[in-house]
Amino acid sequence: MSNTAQVIVNIPTRSLDKPFSYIIPAHLPGIGVGSRVLVPFSNRKVEGFIIGLALENTEGLKPILDVLDDYPWFDSNMLETAKWLSEYYLCSLGEAMRLFIPGQSGIKTQKAYQAPDGVDVEQTAALLSNKPEEYRTALTYIYEHGPVTLTDFAKLAINPDTMIKFFLQHKLIVNADTVSKRGKANETTLINLAVSREAAAQIEQNLPKTKGAQRRLLSALLHTKDELSATQLRDLSITQDTVKKLAEQGLITTRRVPLFRNSYAGGCLRSPEVNLTPEQSHALSLIVPAINTGLHSSFLIHGVTGSGKTLVYIKAVAEARRLKRQAIVLVPEIALTSQIVARFKAAFGEDVVVMHSKLAVGERHDAWRRLQAGHAGIVIGARSALFAPVSHLGLIIIDEEHEFTYKQEETPRYHAREVALARARLAGAVVVLGSATPAVETYYKALQGEYTLIPMNKRVDNTPMPAVTVVDMRQELAQGRRSVISQALQDMLTETLAKSEQAIILLNRRGYSTFVLCRECGHVLKCRHCDISLVYHAPANVLRCHYCQERHTVPDTCPECSSRYIRYFGAGTQKVEEALAASFPAARIVRMDQDTTGGKMAHDKILSAFAAGTYDILLGTQMVAKGHDIPNVTAVGIISADTALNLPDFRAAEKTFSLLTQAAGRAGRGTKTGRVVMQTYNPEHYAITAGADHNYLTFYQNEISFRHQLNYPPYANLVKITVHAADEVTVHRNANQLAAELTQALAMADTSIIGPFPASVNKIKDVFRVNILIKTQVLSKVTHQLAILSIACRRDIIVDIDPVNVL
Ligand code: ADP
Ligand code: ZN
Ligand code: ZN
Repeated sequence: MSNTAQVIVNIPTRSLDKPFSYIIPAHLPGIGVGSRVLVPFSNRKVEGFIIGLALENTEGLKPILDVLDDYPWFDSNMLETAKWLSEYYLCSLGEAMRLFIPGQSGIKTQKAYQAPDGVDVEQTAALLSNKPEEYRTALTYIYEHGPVTLTDFAKLAINPDTMIKFFLQHKLIVNADTVSKRGKANETTLINLAVSREAAAQIEQNLPKTKGAQRRLLSALLHTKDELSATQLRDLSITQDTVKKLAEQGLITTRRVPLFRNSYAGGCLRSPEVNLTPEQSHALSLIVPAINTGLHSSFLIHGVTGSGKTLVYIKAVAEARRLKRQAIVLVPEIALTSQIVARFKAAFGEDVVVMHSKLAVGERHDAWRRLQAGHAGIVIGARSALFAPVSHLGLIIIDEEHEFTYKQEETPRYHAREVALARARLAGAVVVLGSATPAVETYYKALQGEYTLIPMNKRVDNTPMPAVTVVDMRQELAQGRRSVISQALQDMLTETLAKSEQAIILLNRRGYSTFVLCRECGHVLKCRHCDISLVYHAPANVLRCHYCQERHTVPDTCPECSSRYIRYFGAGTQKVEEALAASFPAARIVRMDQDTTGGKMAHDKILSAFAAGTYDILLGTQMVAKGHDIPNVTAVGIISADTALNLPDFRAAEKTFSLLTQAAGRAGRGTKTGRVVMQTYNPEHYAITAGADHNYLTFYQNEISFRHQLNYPPYANLVKITVHAADEVTVHRNANQLAAELTQALAMADTSIIGPFPASVNKIKDVFRVNILIKTQVLSKVTHQLAILSIACRRDIIVDIDPVNVL
């Protein structure tokens, strides 16, 4: 019997969803639950996370090789959150735990090979007799030089993989991987006296003149109360050699401490104190006491754009910090939210850690260590910041909580909002969700009392919401105007430019060309059973419903009005740019979309140039609608307000409404009143009318009744199961088989199975994909059954709980 640890190995495979036992060697100190360790696994060395300790029979067990940190990386809150995540989202515990590791792994493995013990050289020669010369050369090299890395191997052979395979097969080489710790914090040396000051003074006096450097060092130590740093040594021109000599004589001690890299070092200004608006005070009067209780609770701030939500976040965070608790602030996308980051930096300075995707693993590691050590108390970042190692969590803020970027679209397919709520529940922390257009599910829960609803209806400076003109594009066509720019938009832009003000033009391109629209009456072809737009499939020239799979031929004329102007919808940013340039030859136009912006930072650059007044018109897709606050922007044009409306997605109306509101919110943020022109083929749709009126409640009431009728979330949960295979026949066979299995296993009340139906992009990189949707009101029972069937462990299946993308 010996002390053992239950270890989850950090290998991205779903089939290893159980802990393995390892012996804890006596010479490794500080190993405990939550420690990251290095363990032998088959014939490799891998990173592992300790999730439990025991006393057991150690027969056949191997010992832990090393410990990666000098304290457990996971505290109980992180561990419990990971467990919750793996159970809710049906991923392995390892997959959930590695979310908490910067760069997903704490070690770097370099593949290498060496000679096995006692090789028989004669036998080897025989084996290689009919192989090319390079086989013999390579093997001789390995036998003479010891471990050879994969990189070096590539220099020895034209086809290293084949060669390695052959050598391994015939046991001519064995694995000898080297493993190193990643993102090790940079360290610096601090120096202190090891003898009394009197003794040191005495020695310094007696040192001969030739030992000037040693004298300078002792003298410096005698004249400081603190330890001496590396920088001070440099200033005194004292070398490491001198330090070493004095240390050998036992006169000084040295110690290594982590030197935190700080990629965001820079001046920070405290923000001036402002008087809170009545709505801000009210919000804080609810949130601040909740933070003080030390118990979990959650809030939804439903505040129009410009109502001052950010200041509420800042004050709430200040309260958590006053109580020495830490805060996580989530933003949809760090590159598009530099303003909120700047405001937090201004208020809290070095207490803020910014998690940016551009950070190197080492920097990320340091940032997390600063939080872990309590040297910083606030982390701001995109969804991954949720996994920061804060051990005194008091508050989580999710700004723009409705944004779909909070959903991770790769395994584990978690939603940051749900994980935040789980982590906060486990930590006794407060969650504040904020949005001008909350997700329908979120608002529903707030109305149910699950979150405290805090409305903020007024803009801080009392500027009115912009006036919105809805343009019916069918009328435009009837009047013989075929341009993508309506008369109203043209007029608004003319006036804006004449006043030297700026305009933003949004082209909502998502879902272009997939649906069929009548340009005369605005009719969009929809499925009779599902009330969801039919999707056009080019190769087969058919329309298909992605929910029930019904197929239709493409009509030549509109079934509503018999017009022949029925067509696949499509107009790219480039086309709009040309039209704008033709109408406004003197205007300085800048385009921002996936094509023009290579990296994420490029968005930032375009936005700052636009904010600085370098351009008159900013044209782009979704991203031009988000997060920025430019006072001189007084006009917003929306080229086609209803493109998202026609996506075959039950959230189409929600996406449309929120985008329209966000876009309209960009107009008139300064002292000037803003104007918006929304072009649409669907002027009666509630997403458009409510969007034009800035009326979330009207939108919500219409939308929730639609959700209720068809039993979509929040009235049911969805689970999307995607089956993939390299050929079409197999994928359909497997999906049908699975659907049959599921029908049997999930034969329970309030649960239905939809599909299989081909995914909207049904072939990616030659892999065919078919979806099955489960709609249920008893999600935990369904996930339980799915776990029993081990569906999530299958390599050809992706399970997505609460999918955001149902297509
Ligand atoms: P939201 O996040 O709700 O869109 P912001 O927090 O960005 O709104 O606030 C809009 C503007 O009002 C910002 O420029 C902000 O600095 C300013 N502001 C916020 N609160 C106050 C206040 N109490 N007094 C004066 N200005 C404020
Ligand atoms: Zn028509
Ligand atoms: Zn249908």
